[in-house]
Amino acid sequence: MPAEERRELWVSLGVVEDWLKGGLRSRPLPSGHPDFAAAVPADGKMTRFGDSLDAIAREVENCRACRLCEKRTRAVPGQGPPAPLAMVVGEGPGAEEDAQGLPFVGPAGRLLDKMLASIGLSRESNCFIANVVKCRPPDNRDPAPDERAACLGYLRRQIALLKPKAILCVGRIAAGALLDSAEGVGRLRGAWRDFEGTPLFVTYHPSALLRDEAYKRPAWEDLKTFRERVSPLS
Ligand code: URA
Ligand code: SF4
Repeated sequence: MPAEERRELWVSLGVVEDWLKGGLRSRPLPSGHPDFAAAVPADGKMTRFGDSLDAIAREVENCRACRLCEKRTRAVPGQGPPAPLAMVVGEGPGAEEDAQGLPFVGPAGRLLDKMLASIGLSRESNCFIANVVKCRPPDNRDPAPDERAACLGYLRRQIALLKPKAILCVGRIAAGALLDSAEGVGRLRGAWRDFEGTPLFVTYHPSALLRDEAYKRPAWEDLKTFRERVSPLS
């Protein structure tokens, strides 16, 4: 069986089932809560970018502020509703994101969507997803410090416009960029942090969970903690 299929199978049989059981069966989704409803556009449609988010997206698509512009197919500004409950911040686009111009649409993204669903969040209704760098680092290498610095302004503007109740940073690069820290996820997770007045929580990147099952339990603990903050009813 090809590695990709094995991974998919592992995901669908293991992590997600547990999460869905633990997340959805033991507690109701927060969708009945008035705050939840208010965050979803009245017409129920997903709005990818509001006006100002649109402006950021256009700037990102034309940006040549760092060398990552040279090899990108498409820039990946971010995706989600304009008044989200929560925001997820990842590292940077991979191959599929670069091809589609959308964040987290590869294998890690499919897992991320399921992780978010298990705590009542989705990019269609109440969670905005973005990355520290908006263009793909070649060969999926870590974005370099100067590339992160060149791009961070876009993410800061997105956070300022979106005003999420809380930010979930997935992985060391995202956490490092927003907390200005060189610590690993193991040290940064487990306690609420702050990004310019917005509560921020750090957990493992979904690709780490795809690589190593040992991250599954702590990641689920992190998601439960995150859920408490974004939905008072949970
Ligand atoms: N990994 C990330 O950190 N971001 C994406 O958008 C996709 C994979
Ligand atoms: Fe501009 Fe960011 Fe892309 Fe670099 S990664 S070219 S700063 S949008």
